[in-house]
Amino acid sequence: MLTLLFASPANWDEYREVLPGALEAAGIRAQIFTLENQPAPDQVDYLIYAPSSPLQDFTPFTRAKAVLSLWAGVERIVGNTTLTQPLCRMVDPWLTEGMVEWVVGHTLRHHLGMDRHIVNPDHVWDPASPPLARDRRVAVLGLGALGLACARALQGLNFAVSGWSRTAKDIAGLPTAHGADGLRATLAAAEIVILLLPKTPETENTLDAAALAAMPKGAVILNPGRGALIDDAALLAALDAGQIGHATLDVFRVEPLPKDHPFWSHPGVTVTPHIAADTRPASAARVLVENIRRGEAGEPLLNLVDRARGY
Ligand code: NAP
Repeated sequence: MLTLLFASPANWDEYREVLPGALEAAGIRAQIFTLENQPAPDQVDYLIYAPSSPLQDFTPFTRAKAVLSLWAGVERIVGNTTLTQPLCRMVDPWLTEGMVEWVVGHTLRHHLGMDRHIVNPDHVWDPASPPLARDRRVAVLGLGALGLACARALQGLNFAVSGWSRTAKDIAGLPTAHGADGLRATLAAAEIVILLLPKTPETENTLDAAALAAMPKGAVILNPGRGALIDDAALLAALDAGQIGHATLDVFRVEPLPKDHPFWSHPGVTVTPHIAADTRPASAARVLVENIRRGEAGEPLLNLVDRARGY
């Protein structure tokens, strides 16, 4: 009988419905405890965890074989020096589906110029039609679980997609680049840029003033990655100058985005409140359980975070 500690009070109500069934379906016998009802820390086999949890000291969990995060992004926990156990981030197939839908929807909005027709107070009859997707160049920065799924979905609609990542890639049918030179070339050729990078010291301000200036005039940015990927002041200046045509932002340096932040009122910015892709408990529970199964079988854990890399 395994001892699991579900250490994210904010999520317990939704997981209590699905986690026991997922464990049972995998034939895993486990007792699930919460922070209100904790076992002795040295009896815990696995922690299921969200970085927003009040639990921040992992030292007493001497037997824990892994900390399984409910979140995809781990920047708030990766530097925790008490966390010596293996850390797995969440790669949830239904979260990925949600991200693909958000990215495709917002890409199509800008590609088709939908705003001109949705808000048209002067009743202007403007029959200009957009190019086909095959003639729209889209760059996806970050080719991990989410970026690659979005790139593939956009390719499925015929968009001319390219990608950028930290390490070199060889992905069938997808032109890719990496490193600083690769970024400049990727941005220079993209009318729509989608940010799906993790927040690390290296990715902070990936879109700074110089990067924004490297993009074609009027380019559109979609940021469902992390707020810190963009230099806010440089973005506002580039929007004011018409260098950037529009930015649709889901994530921010401070969340909720403060009421007086200029993004709220800028006509070139659309704010969505960090809703691009939620973890979905029903599918995420199966991912958690698969990792517990692997841990017990001595198989490699899925989605292990590389602490040195930061993601
Ligand atoms: P992932 O699988 O870890 O992929 C990260 C990608 O970013 C990889 O392709 C990686 O390159 C690349 N990368 C990392 N550092 C880089 C650098 N310095 N330069 C260039 N590329 C770099 O992550 P994921 O699951 O796709 O998630 C991406 C991010 O989405 C998460 O970290 C999180 O911040 C965000 N997110 C947002 C929401 C939302 O609702 N808005 C939901 C979930 C996730 P390599 O392939 O070379 O390693």
